[in-house]
Amino acid sequence: MTTTMAHPISLVAKNCCGCSACEQTCTQGCITMQSDEEGFLYPHVDIEKCTECGRCTKVCPALSPYEERTPLETFAAINRREDVRLRSSSGGVFPLLAEWIIDRDGVVFGAAFDKKWNVVHRKAATKAELKDLQGSKYVQSRMGRCYNEAKTCLKKGRMVMFVGTPCQIAGLQHYLGKPNPLLLTVDFICHGVPSPAVWQWYIKNRATSFSKKHWLSRMRYGLNPVSSIQSVEFRNKDRGWKHFQFVMKMGGRRGESLANVHYDNPYMRCFLLDASLRPSCYHCPSKCGRSYSDITLADFWNVHKVVDGFDDDKGTSLVIINTQRGAHVFGELDCRREHVCFEDAIQYNKAWRKPYPENPHRAAFFQEYKNRPADFHLLAEVNEGEGC
Ligand SMILES: Cc1cc2nc3c(=O)[nH]c(=O)nc-3n(C[C@H](O)[C@H](O)[C@H](O)COP(=O)(O)OP(=O)(O)OC[C@H]3O[C@@H](n4cnc5c(N)ncnc54)[C@H](O)[C@@H]3O)c2cc1C
Ligand code: SF4
Ligand code: SF4
Ligand code: SF4
Repeated sequence: MTTTMAHPISLVAKNCCGCSACEQTCTQGCITMQSDEEGFLYPHVDIEKCTECGRCTKVCPALSPYEERTPLETFAAINRREDVRLRSSSGGVFPLLAEWIIDRDGVVFGAAFDKKWNVVHRKAATKAELKDLQGSKYVQSRMGRCYNEAKTCLKKGRMVMFVGTPCQIAGLQHYLGKPNPLLLTVDFICHGVPSPAVWQWYIKNRATSFSKKHWLSRMRYGLNPVSSIQSVEFRNKDRGWKHFQFVMKMGGRRGESLANVHYDNPYMRCFLLDASLRPSCYHCPSKCGRSYSDITLADFWNVHKVVDGFDDDKGTSLVIINTQRGAHVFGELDCRREHVCFEDAIQYNKAWRKPYPENPHRAAFFQEYKNRPADFHLLAEVNEGEGC
């Protein structure tokens, strides 16, 4: 019988951030990550197989959160290659770090789309594979077996760079148990992660209405409209970094592009107004340096108020160095950079310190999701949320 009842890992309840460290550490294979009715993954334990070894609770970052840490240094930074920076969400520091690792025969783990436009963590071993990891995807990624894979690579003596939300990095650190000189961990200041099921509802809805309008697409993609999607960008910079757009291309040569500046897109609005986030995000256990990452990346919003010459509206990164290893690797990169005062920089990025409050109409929004009306729309009440 599969149940979570009475097992200690179930005490985590809604504080569970879904990192899957417990699943990947269980040598008996009794934990599986299963979707709840909102579309978020939680551990389910097969009590019959459990030997009560206690490994799963030991690695859980929600049960044993790390202490707050003070960063060592803070920078404004820009990737010198404009084409690369424009494909990234902020200043394009992630691709520089990742290439540094690949050049040393290492591997990089980060989030990419799979064929059905789910967001999944995966490994990249070549520069060509890195492109899929570039850019923010505002959906909770599925970790799969990536902690296991990273551990195997480290055991074989390969360098590993692991990028994820602060809670995913905290989960990895707990899972590995001890520092490893071959590992570079990178997280970002995190607003929170929306439900993968809400994402699928949104894209299915948009792709279906596209197919209904175009007879050729109806013929070609009728049974599976999501397959008409050719590309998705959450942070397209055609109208500038500050007015970043959500862009989704559907169909072939005579296809259609959906392009909305962030707050005008209902999916993005729902995310930014904190209506579709994972419950743990409203009580995040990994803020203020508590992921124990080497480097934290972010958008350097209002950079012009802190340092001159870094605001060309094509994206500037805020780079927070947390460890000596992070300082060493960042120091080796060829990028434009300037030291800044941490407190000056962080005042414009609320998500570093505090979680965003739950939208008071979140429950009503998810009730609407459960009814799955044909049209993805935001309830008027949700639109009144606080936002960022
Ligand atoms: C869900 C989410 C919330 C964020 N919230 C904030 C915020 O409140 N304030 C802020 O300043 N910055 C936030 N960021 C970070 C910001 O959007 C950029 O990702 C970061 O500054 C790195 O940009 P870059 O230009 O250096 O690299 P990019 O090329 O943009 O690389 C992005 C990196 O993030 C990883 N990634 C993308 N999507 C996910 C995902 N869903 N889960 C885990 N890893 C992912 C990719 O693998 C890649 O390594 C958030 C990012 C995400 C994914
Ligand atoms: S206590 Fe041990 S055997 Fe039981 S679920 Fe946790 S890790 Fe697996
Ligand atoms: S936070 Fe991670 S380790 Fe803890 S219960 Fe949730 S998935 Fe498992
Ligand atoms: S806000 Fe916190 S709990 Fe939510 S995804 Fe980000 S790091 Fe994890």
